[in-house]
Order: sequence, then structure tokens, then C-alpha cells
Amino acid sequence: MSLWGKSTSVWLDTTPATNYETLADELTVDVAVAGGGIAGLVAAYFLSQQGLKVAVVETLRIVQDVSGYTLGKITSEHGQRYGLLARTLGQEKAQVYADANMAALERIVSIIQSNGIDCDFKRADAFLYTEFEENIPVIKAEVEQARRLGLPASYTGETPLPFARGAMRFENQAQFHPRRYLLFLAREIVAAGGFIFEETRALDIVEDGVSKGGVDASPGVVGESSAVAGAPGKSGKGAVLKTDRGDIRAGNVVVATNTPFYRRERFAQLLTPRRRFVLGIRLDGPVPEGLHYSVDPYGGSIRNQPVGEEKLLLVSSWDDNLRPSDFQKQFAKVESYARARLPVRSIDYHWFHQDQQTPDRVPFIGRLPESRSVLVAAGFGGWGMTTSCAAAMILTDLITGRDNPWAALYDPARIF
Ligand SMILES: Cc1cc2nc3c(=O)[nH]c(=O)nc-3n(C[C@H](O)[C@H](O)[C@H](O)COP(=O)(O)OP(=O)(O)OC[C@H]3O[C@@H](n4cnc5c(N)ncnc54)[C@H](O)[C@@H]3O)c2cc1C
Repeated sequence: MSLWGKSTSVWLDTTPATNYETLADELTVDVAVAGGGIAGLVAAYFLSQQGLKVAVVETLRIVQDVSGYTLGKITSEHGQRYGLLARTLGQEKAQVYADANMAALERIVSIIQSNGIDCDFKRADAFLYTEFEENIPVIKAEVEQARRLGLPASYTGETPLPFARGAMRFENQAQFHPRRYLLFLAREIVAAGGFIFEETRALDIVEDGVSKGGVDASPGVVGESSAVAGAPGKSGKGAVLKTDRGDIRAGNVVVATNTPFYRRERFAQLLTPRRRFVLGIRLDGPVPEGLHYSVDPYGGSIRNQPVGEEKLLLVSSWDDNLRPSDFQKQFAKVESYARARLPVRSIDYHWFHQDQQTPDRVPFIGRLPESRSVLVAAGFGGWGMTTSCAAAMILTDLITGRDNPWAALYDPARIF
């Protein structure tokens, strides 16, 4: 155990390891999904519930990458996102973003409740807080904007965090154990006749005999033998997902690998990583309720999590002025942030990870430009719990040929 407790997440530490087989043979399915994090698994779950045959390929083991190291707040309160989107993209687009995330939140709740998923689910209010008087107008402006969009926002001078000066409260948001939820969905995918292949790495996608650039492929026409024949989906004409274990032919391929391996050079230009450092802390005294996110320059993201009879407080913080690779200094900063504000008894966990952000802060969800059968879900910008569910709803509609009211906002073609 290090100075900062176990160097794994509480989610990985409190769930069993998975042991799905690797892909052993060629396969034909309706939809192949690359990536076994929250984006890939929720999309695969929704598609399999629609009666489509899906195969998920995961290079590691499922839910061991970003989604295994999240804070797992399920909220449509995404920092100061609504003010930003209204200013930069306009009120209508901010409204679509709000609608998608509110609907996604309720969809997650309904999946958990209707299936009785044992994942420490709890409704909780979300707070966007400040410790500084001068930031109160910023918070109040965000409240006004959120209310204009019909979001459940109000200003409050009191939050469960004793050190917060003022906050925007979003009522009736939620928290859960993300890995328990996702391991349940994975079992349901298999129960519906789908496949999950671990230790199987997606390398490239070949569509109409052409690769536009996978991990090991240079863009260009590939051999005749790789051209796609089978498994056209309801919308896509078909593609081959090439992996290090064999090919999967599919009507559509969903790229949900957080950092896309396909057309990776373009994605590398468009996506910016945001690294976050988390401590799992035991307190002397009561553990604050609620989901908290700070607007202050050196602020925190905070929630609690039951572990056995006790509750941990998960405190994430970061200092954008430090080099992201200064891990020791970053963790020391989180620790001093927590100790200055809370009665820290012990630090049981520390972990860090990063998520990708798009230039306009709207994730990339939808069909890739110049592609009939390849879809993507990426660039969640630190808010992947509701966003991945909205993504799964959009991708399912696109693949099954239904209209989706949010698809235009998230369409990667707007920037690609
Ligand atoms: C510290 C931290 C705290 C966060 N807290 C919150 C929060 O409270 N609320 C919230 O909404 N969001 C939060 N987020 C964001 C959220 O966790 C992410 O948006 C989300 O988990 C991303 O999911 P994903 O499926 O895109 O990525 P991942 O979980 O990384 O899944 C992608 C998967 O693809 C696999 N893969 C990669 N390349 C290949 C390949 N070539 N072939 C096959 N598989 C491949 C990876 O191994 C991985 O398993 C947080 C993020 C961080 C880092």
C-alpha cells in the first residue's frame, strides 16, 4: 500500500475479474462493437435488446480502462456546459444537449430499476459549487441558463459540503457503482445471443474494400479478399472489423474505444485528453451526500461510495498548471485539497485516468463522414455516464433506421 492507499479504483477492487474468451474464428453479426467500456457495452446492450446480433471486442478486459476509473456520477449537470453551449452554438443546440442528457439519465434509472441491478444506485442532487464570493455570479448565470432549458436547477447558499460558499443544485440526479452496472449489461448481451471477446484488439475496418486508416493499416484499397459481402444491417451496407484474432463481418461497426483506432490521425487532431486524479478517503465524522463539481480554478469533483459498513468519499482534483505526468505532485495536491477542507482519517485508494474532449464540447456520436457502416461514440469530455447512454440511443436509432431528435447535434460531420 502506498502513501495514497491502493493504486486501483474502488470499482475494480470490489468486483470480480471477467474472463470472456478471445475471438477464435471468423464471425458474421449485425453489429460489431470495438471497445468494452461504458460506450461500447451500453450500445451493444441496446442493440441486442432490439434483436440484433452483436459482438463486442475488447483489447484488454471489459470495464478496465476509463470506465473502470470514473467517479460514476450520473448527472446532466456537466459543469458550466449549458452557458457555454448557449453562447457558442445557440439556445436550440443547448436545448438538444439538455434533452439528450436528461432522457439518458432517466433511461439509466429505468434499466437499473426494471432489472433490479445491484449497483449501489441512489438518487442524489448534483451541485456546481464555488468557495469564492466572486464566483457566485458565474454560478447564478449558469442557473438562469439551465432553467431556461427546463433543467431542474436552482441556486443555493447551502450544500452538503461545509466549505462551499454557493452552488447550483440539480435535483434528482443519481450515482451508482459503474462496474457492477456494466458487468450486468455484459451478461445480458451474452444472454441475448451476443458475443463479448476479451483480449481481442480491433486493428482496422474495411468498408467496400477500402480502409481509411486503422491501427496498423495505411489508408487505401485493400485486397479483393477483404471486400465485404455479408451481414448488411438495416442501414449500413456492411464492413469487416479486422482484429488481431480474426475478422468479424458486420452490417455496421461501432467504434467505442475512447480514443478511436480508426481514422485515428483525424481524431488525434480533434480530441484533447483531460486527466483526472482521484483519492478514496475515509473521514472522521459524517460523509457528505451529493454529487459535487467545482467552478473554481483549483477545484474538485466529489461524491461518496458505500464500501461495506462505511462510506468512502471520492475526491478528484487536478491542477492544470502542473504537467499531467507529475503524478506525485497531482496526488499531493488532491490530498492537500481534501485535508484543508475535510477531517481525513485515511486514504484507501488513489487512481487517475483521462477522457477525451472535442473542440466544441459536444461529443462525436454518429456515422463517420464518407462512411455508410462505421459509427463512433467518443469525446465525452469527462461526462460519459449520461453521454454514453444518449450515444447508445442515437446509434441504435441510426442503425435501425429510425429518426433521432438529437443525432444532428452530435453528428461528427459537423467538424470532421
Ligand atoms: C477520473 C475520472 C472521473 C470521471 N467521472 C465521471 C463522472 O462522475 N460522471 C461522468 O459522467 N463521467 C465521468 N468521467 C468520464 C467517463 O468516465 C468517461 O467518459 C467514460 O468512462 C468513457 O467511456 P468509454 O467507453 O468511451 O471509454 P473506456 O471505458 O476507456 O472504453 C473503451 C474501451 O475500448 C478498449 N479499446 C481501446 N482500443 C481498442 C482496440 N483497438 N480494440 C478493442 N478495444 C479497444 C479499451 O481497452 C476500453 O476498455 C470521468 C472520467 C475520469 C477519467
